[in-house]
Amino acid sequence: MFILKSEIEFDSAHFLSGYEGKCANIHGHRYRLIVKIKGDKLKTSGNDRAMVEDFSFIKSTLKEIHDLFDHKIIIEDDEIGKDLINKLKTVPQEFKYELVQYRPTVEEMSRNIFFIIKGKGINIYEVELFETPTNSCIYREDD
Ligand SMILES: [Zn+2]
Repeated sequence: MFILKSEIEFDSAHFLSGYEGKCANIHGHRYRLIVKIKGDKLKTSGNDRAMVEDFSFIKSTLKEIHDLFDHKIIIEDDEIGKDLINKLKTVPQEFKYELVQYRPTVEEMSRNIFFIIKGKGINIYEVELFETPTNSCIYREDD
């Protein structure tokens, strides 16, 4: 089996709604995302001949994920999140945010990213998302 590996980093702020502890406050991370794409065979014709997947396609997909989250506040779509967004709209500066349907833990984010990549038709094997240099979550589907 072949496994391609690619990575990007992005900076985001988030907070955990309903959490007791310091992660309840808005804070930032430099997220490091490592993706692995698998293939048993190489493509046999066309531009991608002898490749599992064109790295330029992987890079453009990772750029979309970067742009989705980079320099934004990741906000869960719940009562607190909606309230925060309404308050952000009252200040005379635009704050960029990404509204998500989950609590933005590294687990949920890595699963979300896995399915965004899979949705592009890429044979994603594994997503590893580092929230700090020493803490990460790996998301895979069951083998
Ligand atoms: Zn955090």
